[in-house]
Amino acid sequence: MRMGDSELPAHEAVNLYLEEAADLIELSDEMRGALERPAREIAVQIPVRLDTGEIRMVRGYRVQHNDSRGPFKGGIRYHPTVDLSEVRALASLMTWKTAIVDIPFGGAKGGVEIDPGELSVPELERMTRRFTLMISSDLGPYRDIPAPDVNTDAQVMAWIMDEYSDRAGYSPAVVTGKPLSLGGAPGRERATGLGAVFVLDEFLLHHHLQLIGSRVAIQGFGNVGRAMAWELFRRGARVTAVSDVTGGLHDPGGLDVPSICDHIDGGAPLNTFTDADPIDNDTLLTLECDVLAPAALGPVITSDNAAEVKAKVVLEAANHPVTPGADRLLAERGITVLPDVLVNAGGVTGSYFEWTQNIQQFTWKAERFEQELEDRLRLAYREVHAKADQYHSSLRGAAFAIGLTRVAEATRIRGYLS
Ligand code: NAD
Repeated sequence: MRMGDSELPAHEAVNLYLEEAADLIELSDEMRGALERPAREIAVQIPVRLDTGEIRMVRGYRVQHNDSRGPFKGGIRYHPTVDLSEVRALASLMTWKTAIVDIPFGGAKGGVEIDPGELSVPELERMTRRFTLMISSDLGPYRDIPAPDVNTDAQVMAWIMDEYSDRAGYSPAVVTGKPLSLGGAPGRERATGLGAVFVLDEFLLHHHLQLIGSRVAIQGFGNVGRAMAWELFRRGARVTAVSDVTGGLHDPGGLDVPSICDHIDGGAPLNTFTDADPIDNDTLLTLECDVLAPAALGPVITSDNAAEVKAKVVLEAANHPVTPGADRLLAERGITVLPDVLVNAGGVTGSYFEWTQNIQQFTWKAERFEQELEDRLRLAYREVHAKADQYHSSLRGAAFAIGLTRVAEATRIRGYLS
């Protein structure tokens, strides 16, 4: 992946966006200081017993950014590049995201510095259980609720829930993104990708444009990228490129997304699909298309390659895929960026629906889940759009301004700063 001005620590990049939004809403210096920094940072060294009998020490983090509007909430990722600055940035993004879609959560994030591909399933389970144990006093259905992120899935959530429940009693609401048999919600798995499509569609409607026939290039074909590709294909958009860590596929006429999914589900790597041209991950970002959707890791659009982006719209399905320098360059070139804090908020919104059902011990039909998701994300887009018009700001500036206003109000009224 491209680097460039990504050397700005991730949490400082998020704070730049925060400062811009704080200027828009004329937030006091005192409140800025309080909201830029995480409430709590937990760093642990996890001993993992390998199948060989050896112990491997692995670093793990949980950063709890803000809980003024509700319990801390955010995913846990397993990746070798995880570091504290990135987890801080991701935790802060969660605080603004939950406020933008107006759900009763704060923001947190976790990460373990590991390539899970290097571990066997029993090793992964032991690591997950030990990590959970080490942070469990700071977790809880009304305290901090993890969810899946990069390289973690429903199985990992099941282990976290089981380990936590061992001590606290049966607690399905302590994590979201669980398997359906353990209180997971039908619809949660594809909620992030689906939510991104609702946001894109609402944007297009506002600009008298159509999803049908739009050319979309997607980087990342995991939970988010795949669900997005599937839904775009189903709605008649032309998915012209997809990629994952193995490489990419390109067809200007539109890829056959269901066949690619079948190919992967059969156990084959994405880049061995033969009914499309190969493309590398850097070239995918510079393809001629209507919508470019980074849905893997950040930051991939930097001041080094922003001038080469030919899309009309960048749909930030991943977290912080565009650096602040690139954001400015794209704006100067008239390319609209739909920001991560809005675009991928479908994931945490779906998590909210799952958590709600868990604590009420009442299940919704899948249709209700999807309808509520659609209503909330379309409304959130319209609010951000209206705020951008009011402030003559970017959509990102407006989204952060909405989030910041709501969090600052809750922080003030709870008397956090007194
Ligand atoms: P995932 O682990 O399911 O998938 C990640 C995808 O990215 C995989 O296809 C992987 O092969 C690909 N990838 C990894 N490294 C790559 C590289 N160097 N070049 C190209 N592709 C690469 O993760 P996910 O849950 O789909 O998350 C993707 C992004 O969406 C992350 O930024 C995550 O924080 C964000 N996000 C996820 C959720 C969620 O509900 N899962 C919610 C909000 C935001």
